[in-house]
Amino acid sequence: MSEQQQTRTVGIENQLDGVGIFYLIISIIGLIACIVLSQDEAIKQTGLSSFLIGLGIGVIAQGIVFWILFKAGAEVIRLLKKLNGLQYDGVISGTEGSGTEYTCTECGTPVAPDAKFCTNCGVSFEEKEEEKEEV
Ligand SMILES: [Zn+2]
Repeated sequence: MSEQQQTRTVGIENQLDGVGIFYLIISIIGLIACIVLSQDEAIKQTGLSSFLIGLGIGVIAQGIVFWILFKAGAEVIRLLKKLNGLQYDGVISGTEGSGTEYTCTECGTPVAPDAKFCTNCGVSFEEKEEEKEEV
């Protein structure tokens, strides 16, 4: 009997994704606020409306840049984890919807397609195939 350990935790990659989306939402709110303020009659008279629209565009631009940077950072962590045969949260873009999902036959943990052993229960996949061939 092998003990199954459920130590699956949310990795930093998903936190980075969350921070990126947070930045994007904040910048969208900033853009809307700038547009709304620029339409204000009193602000229009001071000539600040064009400045506010410019500011809004700057805010959304940096928001998108941060969002992409955080997304890319999360992607890099996932790829590094995958290369090292570690579990990762989320989906690496390009692999989504491929229809191929590799899970451990012993404990059902998702594993990398080229993984030699399960990162959760440690069962070796190579040996199993060899055993089958011998029998
Ligand atoms: Zn396993």
